[in-house]
Amino acid sequence: MASRTELPSLVMAPVDCPLCGAKTVAQAQKKCRANQDTELRPDCMIARHDEDGNFVMPTPESYAAFEAGFASFLRE
Ligand SMILES: [Zn+2]
Repeated sequence: MASRTELPSLVMAPVDCPLCGAKTVAQAQKKCRANQDTELRPDCMIARHDEDGNFVMPTPESYAAFEAGFASFLRE
């Protein structure tokens, strides 16, 4: 039986919001909400941020490795 510790960990990389270009939660509060259109989503598309409020997303490579690892985990 595989243990969870065998799963590859996600590597987070800094990203900008594709909508407003904000790099941090603080920037998004100005940019996204200042430009807010009631027809649009008011919040940044980036859901994750680190302890400093910088937006981060898993790198494509680490996400692919994680998914592959998780798939093999489920098969066992
Ligand atoms: Zn945004």
